[in-house]
Amino acid sequence: MRSEMEKDILKVLITEEELQKRIAELGEAIYERFQGRRPLFLGVLKGSFVFMADLVRACQLKSDVEFIAVSSYENATVSSGRVKINHDLQQDITGRDLIIVEDILDSGSTLAFLKDYFLTKGAASITIVTLLDKPSRRTKAITADFAGFEVPNEFVVGYGLDYCQEYRNVPYIGVLKPEVYAG
Ligand code: 5GP
Ligand code: MG
Repeated sequence: MRSEMEKDILKVLITEEELQKRIAELGEAIYERFQGRRPLFLGVLKGSFVFMADLVRACQLKSDVEFIAVSSYENATVSSGRVKINHDLQQDITGRDLIIVEDILDSGSTLAFLKDYFLTKGAASITIVTLLDKPSRRTKAITADFAGFEVPNEFVVGYGLDYCQEYRNVPYIGVLKPEVYAG
């Protein structure tokens, strides 16, 4: 397939084939855990939209799908990243078993905030699924119940993850060339 973005990619970290193979395993593991319980898959927009689409199809449970959109303020004077809700839940989650679907778990601020928020809204249980995990950067006591891949402390794009809203449609996980950030 022709790509306008390929020339900006320094290296591929995780190929399409590796992503699909791992997501099939995650789907199977989640099926095993939730069989008979009708969980609610809750995607954290925008980054999780590609992973969410593949994960729910890899896990043939009777389930529901919901989204929340958040952004984090990176205020240099405050060590803990504050999180803002840009698009809230559109349904009651009281008593539901939530499966939070994230693109990447980095500092943990986003998920620490969301976990509290969903418990306040009455969730019965919260399970965290993240495609990528950067444990070296964690500042909050958050761990994923299911993680696809551990990644090094590098900024990654593709498969839903952006740089300045671009590269979300790159089908693999990659690292950008330094000149892309410079210019
Ligand atoms: P946290 O709140 O755990 O620090 O990070 C959550 C969000 O930061 C992620 O959902 C993602 O939007 C963004 N993020 C963290 N690391 C990366 C990265 O390497 N690449 C991209 N594109 N986004 C990242
Ligand atoms: Mg995200």
